[in-house]
Amino acid sequence: MSNFVVGVTGGIGSGKTTVTDAFAARGIPVIDADVIAREMVAAGSDSLNDIARHFGPDILTAQGELDRAQLRQRIFADEAEKEWLNQLLHPRIRHAIETRLNDADAAYCILSAPLLLENKLTYLTNRVLVVDVPESLQIKRTMARDNNSEAQVEAIIAAQMPRQQRLAQADDVLSNDGTVADVYDQVEILHQQYLQAAASKRQQ
Ligand code: ATP
Repeated sequence: MSNFVVGVTGGIGSGKTTVTDAFAARGIPVIDADVIAREMVAAGSDSLNDIARHFGPDILTAQGELDRAQLRQRIFADEAEKEWLNQLLHPRIRHAIETRLNDADAAYCILSAPLLLENKLTYLTNRVLVVDVPESLQIKRTMARDNNSEAQVEAIIAAQMPRQQRLAQADDVLSNDGTVADVYDQVEILHQQYLQAAASKRQQ
C-alpha cells in the first residue's frame, strides 16, 4: 500500500489524462475514478441490476448495457432521481477507490477524478494537483477531441466548478498551456517532489 496519494483534477479537456499518462510513464500507479465508475455499472453488475430495477428495463440497451443517454435524460430534470442514483453509486465507487488505493504498491500513487473536489474525495489524498488551462485553449482542445461545437463545450464548462474556485483548492498547479513535452517536464519536477514528500511521510 502506498501511503501518499496525489489527487489530480481539472475541467473538461484540461489535460488530466495527458498528465496522468506522464506519471504512469514514470511507473506511478494511476487510479481513475471515471474508469471505476464505468466498471461499476458494467453489464451484469449488481449496480446495473439495481438501476434497472429502479428505472425499469428501458434503461438498458438491447445488449444489456446501461443506456447512458437515457439515464442522463431521466436524471437531468429530476433532482430526486439524481440523488437516488448518487446515493446508490457514490459509496460503492468510494469503496472501490479505497480498495485500489490500498492495493497500490508504489512510493506514491495518483487518484485522477474530474469531480475530486465536488465529490469531496480529498479525504483520500495528501495533495491536490490541479491541471489548469486558459478557457480558450480548453475549448479549442475539447472541440478538436470530441468533435463538439463551441457552444456545447462552453455549456459543459459553465456547469463545472469555476476555474478560480478549483485553483483555490490546489496544492500544486500544472499549467497545461504549452506543449505535451512541457507537461512531461513539469511532471518530472512534481514527481521528484512527491517522492520526497512520500519518503518524509513514511519516516514520521
Ligand atoms: P476529459 O476530462 O474531458 O476527459 P482531460 O482533462 O483528460 O479531459 P485530455 O484528454 O488529456 O484532457 O486532453 C484534452 C485534449 O487536449 C486531448 O485531445 C489531448 O491530446 C489534448 N492535449 C492535452 N494537453 C495538450 C498539450 N499540452 N498540447 C496539445 N494538446 C494537448
